[in-house]
Amino acid sequence: MSVVNLLDFDRDGLTAFVEQLGEKRFRATQLFRWIHQKGASDFDAMSDLAKSLRDKLRERAAVQSLPVISEHVSTDGTVKWLFDVGAGNAIETVFIPESDRGTLCVSSQAGCAVGCRFCSTGHQGFSRNLCTGEILAQLWHAEHQLRRRLGLKEGERAVTNVVMMGMGEPLQNYAALVPALRAMLDDHGYGLSRRRVTVSTSGMVAMIDRLREDCPVALAVSLHAPNDALRNDLVPLNRKDGIEALLDACVRYLPAAPRDFVTFEYCMLDGVNDTPELARELVRLVKGRVPCKVNLIPFNPFPQSGLVRSSPERVQAFAAVLLRAGIVTTVRKTRGDDIDAACGQLAGEVQDRTRVHQRLVHAPVKVVRRMAPMQETKA
Ligand code: SF4
Repeated sequence: MSVVNLLDFDRDGLTAFVEQLGEKRFRATQLFRWIHQKGASDFDAMSDLAKSLRDKLRERAAVQSLPVISEHVSTDGTVKWLFDVGAGNAIETVFIPESDRGTLCVSSQAGCAVGCRFCSTGHQGFSRNLCTGEILAQLWHAEHQLRRRLGLKEGERAVTNVVMMGMGEPLQNYAALVPALRAMLDDHGYGLSRRRVTVSTSGMVAMIDRLREDCPVALAVSLHAPNDALRNDLVPLNRKDGIEALLDACVRYLPAAPRDFVTFEYCMLDGVNDTPELARELVRLVKGRVPCKVNLIPFNPFPQSGLVRSSPERVQAFAAVLLRAGIVTTVRKTRGDDIDAACGQLAGEVQDRTRVHQRLVHAPVKVVRRMAPMQETKA
């Protein structure tokens, strides 16, 4: 008889499973709390479940997290785990502590087929989608291990925010993603508010519409360019729908979203997408059309990218153009640099089943021009 991993279920899924065992529905809520709120994996420790149910669970089910290959802790407190997902693949998960929150950056795929040029994961190619249990195991492991390590009391949380910004394009793994999001939001699970769970997408228009219907959490879009010519090169997925359709999807998403803006991520690449002209084009693109916040991300270089990080002066000059136009703009602090945990650096181990890596290596990015140091006004 095959053993079912209970991390694969949201509460509805667990309820169906418990009913298959001939048990009452409310047992699923008890079980869900034991697993996700208390971090229990030993059925014998679940003291308010009837012994007969515990016996059935021991026979038919398990709470199986992911084997940890390594854990690194940065000097700034950032923690990065490398998890084994089998067949030579490994994924990375990063915890970023701040004074008022703890953010977990979660992976959705082993590798990624989108192949964004500035992304280390993208250069590795793609192996497979993670299942719901593998997505949730990252949160389960991080939350309960950190709670113990930090000595948190009952009811205190280590992870207060989740961003689906690790390895993979989450909306290409929609069927596994949505139950995982539901478990994160569930008051009997992690109880995170929709504002504190963010799905970041490279721009899958049809799937943004589905997410709006099924589970509208906060939305971040990896934009990185204000026109199709440049974005087609940096984010190849753009060739399918284009920026106009993407912005329309963002506008449709907002009425259902927990925040009244979309976050646009913009990785700053020297001489590629960081000129003041492109900043002004970005203003023309979004202003008055999509309520948004722009998050400028210093590029984190990695071998083979052929790209260079924009200087702080250029980032500030780009930000100044947006701020003068009244667009809320932030510059992301880089965290976990010393353990390769910063944005775009997650690499894991991927047995590539695509040709993404070869395509990127054989078609270097078009550098418009490397810029001389800027003389522009600072933000
Ligand atoms: S930025 Fe995201 S969508 Fe693009 S290659 Fe990296 S993981 Fe994939």
